[in-house]
Amino acid sequence: MAAPHGQQNTFYIPSSVEQEMSKYMFASLPQEACGVVLGEAAAGGIRISRFQPIRNVAPDPLHHFSLEDTEWIRCVFNEPQLIGLFHSHPRTTPIPSNEDLRNLPIFAGLLQIYFIGSPDLTAESQLKMLLKGYQIHASIDSSIGMSHVQSYSLQPAQLCVT
Ligand SMILES: [Zn+2]
Repeated sequence: MAAPHGQQNTFYIPSSVEQEMSKYMFASLPQEACGVVLGEAAAGGIRISRFQPIRNVAPDPLHHFSLEDTEWIRCVFNEPQLIGLFHSHPRTTPIPSNEDLRNLPIFAGLLQIYFIGSPDLTAESQLKMLLKGYQIHASIDSSIGMSHVQSYSLQPAQLCVT
């Protein structure tokens, strides 16, 4: 249940889940961490229920992520609440990279939301994660009578830690 174009969705994320993502991201350094996010549509947005880490099997995991196939496929078939993807940017900000946008069609048909986490380098003492959530938006082309997805984009969503 995606919000109509132009309307901003809110992602409600329990602080325990946010902390699991954060812990996993820091434990995976210097490599990129990745995983899936489970949840469901709720009034005014999407309620996240769980984070499920998935092994990053990219040949160069310092700069890329690639979900381990078996675990990813198991989630696709066994997790009815599969709703989003998470990965980390260990050395940059949690803004989608060109590569992220290029790879979006691989996942976008199955998912609604996209999280990116980065270490907060301005945090003085503790390990703190900067987390950004994006709504996966499909632009539909129905000009020839048959609707098909033309392209996908990521639109920043509001995050509400509960
Ligand atoms: Zn990325």
